[in-house]
Amino acid sequence: MSVKFMRLSESFYISSKLGVNELKKYNIKKIISIDNIPENLNDFEHVQYQINCDDENMVEYFLKFFNEVENAKQTHEGLIVYFTPNSNTQCSALVMSYFMKKANAKYELVLSKIGRICPAIKIENNEIIEQLNSLIKKKSISKKTNESNNNNDNIKNNETQNSSQSNAENEIQNKIEDKKIQLLCRKCRHVLVSGDNILFHEPGNGQSSFSWRKRDQSLNKNGNVNTCNVYFIEQQSWIEGLDNESDVSGKINCPKCKSKLGSYNWSGMQCSCGKWYSPAFSIIKKSVDESRI
Ligand SMILES: [Zn+2]
Ligand SMILES: [Zn+2]
Repeated sequence: MSVKFMRLSESFYISSKLGVNELKKYNIKKIISIDNIPENLNDFEHVQYQINCDDENMVEYFLKFFNEVENAKQTHEGLIVYFTPNSNTQCSALVMSYFMKKANAKYELVLSKIGRICPAIKIENNEIIEQLNSLIKKKSISKKTNESNNNNDNIKNNETQNSSQSNAENEIQNKIEDKKIQLLCRKCRHVLVSGDNILFHEPGNGQSSFSWRKRDQSLNKNGNVNTCNVYFIEQQSWIEGLDNESDVSGKINCPKCKSKLGSYNWSGMQCSCGKWYSPAFSIIKKSVDESRI
């Protein structure tokens, strides 16, 4: 099964096809693979993981990969995992390991989420699944008994009680929990996006973390630090103008009543809280209403 080009998280991409133009468009700097990569991609940084499926210690690769993705997010320099038919299991394991460690959530729960976005992510090797699950830290609160029954609510409660969660872990957790939310055009009530297509983020640190960016100075003036003025969403088919290769950015209008909702920028945009998405599809909070399904 081939893996189409997709963004799984900020600066984190997967694909079984590597195109120079696409990599450049999304500011992807690093390719991670098990197999060799096509020769025309020699200009990109390439890290090859020599993982065998019967490897007894994959965990060190998982940890290394976790750091690579975290680094990509911090630097906004994208990373892509290159899937091939021969390395589908290993690549799937890397992807799963990242989200499992991030959310401190077990294999089944994370697969139920990621597998919906990308059905090619599959591991049919119990040994590997066991090694993946070993990444999960035991909770200090020992309430988790029904976990194996696919009881997401229970897992969620345990997760939220874990005060040591980082913002990033929350981001994934929010994604798991907030799939019941939808955004409606404030003017015509048309449902624009729902569930996983809304990318919730923890408010960033405002100026302290982004002071080197020019646009921060304007943020400073209106004092909007640490509050969010936009929702970031996944790319939607109803957004007009995305096919136009020459446009780096543009407006997002309601597909029904055409009122202005926000804007997109392939090279990225920043929320008023400082959080940066690249590419970015942003909806101004004032232009929509949030409702729960
Ligand atoms: Zn924000
Ligand atoms: Zn509308």
